[in-house]
Amino acid sequence: MSFDLVLFGGTGDLAWRKLMPALFQAFRHGTLPEGGRIIGIARDDLGDAQYRELIRSRFDDVELAKRPTPEEFDRFAGLLHFLRLDLSQPQDYRRLADMLRERHAETVVMYLATAPDLFTTVCQQIAAAGLNRPNTRLVLEKPLGHDLESNREINETVRSVLSERQIFRIDHYLGKPAVQNLFAMRFGNALFEPVWRREHISNIQITIAEDLGVEKRGAFYDKTGALRDMVQNHALQLLCALAMEPPINAHADAIRDEKLKVLRSLHPWTPETIDQHVVRGQYGAGTANRQSVRGYRDEPGVDPESRTETFVALRTGISSWRWAGVPFYIRTGKRLISREAQIVVNYRQAPHAIYNAPAGSWNRLVINLQPRDGLQLHLLALGQENRRNGQSLAPVHLDLDFDKRFGSERVGAYERLLLDVIAGRLNLFVRSDEQEAAWRWVEPIMEHWAADERGPRPYAAGTWGPSASSAMIARDGLCWSEEC
Ligand code: NAP
Repeated sequence: MSFDLVLFGGTGDLAWRKLMPALFQAFRHGTLPEGGRIIGIARDDLGDAQYRELIRSRFDDVELAKRPTPEEFDRFAGLLHFLRLDLSQPQDYRRLADMLRERHAETVVMYLATAPDLFTTVCQQIAAAGLNRPNTRLVLEKPLGHDLESNREINETVRSVLSERQIFRIDHYLGKPAVQNLFAMRFGNALFEPVWRREHISNIQITIAEDLGVEKRGAFYDKTGALRDMVQNHALQLLCALAMEPPINAHADAIRDEKLKVLRSLHPWTPETIDQHVVRGQYGAGTANRQSVRGYRDEPGVDPESRTETFVALRTGISSWRWAGVPFYIRTGKRLISREAQIVVNYRQAPHAIYNAPAGSWNRLVINLQPRDGLQLHLLALGQENRRNGQSLAPVHLDLDFDKRFGSERVGAYERLLLDVIAGRLNLFVRSDEQEAAWRWVEPIMEHWAADERGPRPYAAGTWGPSASSAMIARDGLCWSEEC
């Protein structure tokens, strides 16, 4: 299948750090359809050869399971082209139309890896240049808007030029192998589904922790914050994957219909529940990787008086027969103690104890999303003490490390998502109504915080966030997984 992949923002951070390595990996794995062109677009005055050289030089700084040999890179570089174009200039799009017309590829993917304020212009100009054909697919990166209204505006513009089945809204968490395995585990095995409900599950915890600070993105982050940057999209998509009903089939809309139902069933917020069940924090100076690091307000690009949250912990619930009474906890932040993304499903304790079990022991399923992908099932078994009395249980776990089991050169999130766009598979992309439902749910928190003089709670870099996060979960008689 021939394709043209147009990378608007082809010299930007996302393009060289994530998209090019992902395309290279697909090329190396032989899964990138043959006969494709990758066309980088930016305002620099570069030719194809210079663009290839630029990408080659950047490859030294990206994460790749194995460095490419010069020959391997040269073969990949043969796919790369560059077009100088100012996206704010309508007349420039004619050059893109000419370039695409040269080939009449079966599929044209347009990937908007530019600042979001260009999205509307680009969509309008793509249409004005007659590039919104039935074989066009448009990929949109987060953030898609700043709130419900701006999200709707973008979606309306995009849908006025392309149909929903041509629009691929990326949430790269959905491309992570462990998230796909979560779907596979739930809907490909008979074992879990009967116990995937309130009668057996006590609570579910989702943690997306980063040890890095805002790095070079202080100015962007200061206008965004953890709620918009992580909760509204990634954390809620994980929650949907955990809580959704089994879809009627594996088609995109069957899956998205079920995710949408979850988003619509989340407990709505009131000012009282926000104060009680949502904690916002902001990192101060501390230690990361044994080095002293500055606080958020001292980061370049950040307002020294900033009230932007770099940490959120919250408790919510789902109004449904399956999940009534089961708390779902979400926690995410920057400059936390380590980089890890993990889901912990805590089961209820055995209803009647005939063994001695250590205090606070119960079955739990741990799904690790990063830094490694894997599943651990924590069980209780007769341990050392058994030699003496045969009555004492010890915690043990079954450990499935996907990297070990399937090899570390597995398909990464962006690789998988890019291949899906080229193939037209929408399963792992977010529909506009899902996005709107997610914004609608977080918006009362945003509004409440904007009017609340108290601001975020400070926490030292290199910790698990403000102590109020532990206190919030402790009020339910529970603890975060690392605390118990
Ligand atoms: P970036 O490093 O600032 O790159 C922006 C790209 O757009 C550059 O290639 C830039 O090239 C090009 N560009 C800007 N204005 C242009 C214009 N008028 N005409 C043509 N090209 C133009 O930004 P980024 O970090 O890659 O982020 C891109 C998008 O992805 C943003 O929406 C961001 O929120 C999102 N995102 C990024 C990451 C990440 O890890 N970086 C992760 C998730 C989402 P010239 O200025 O040379 O023209």
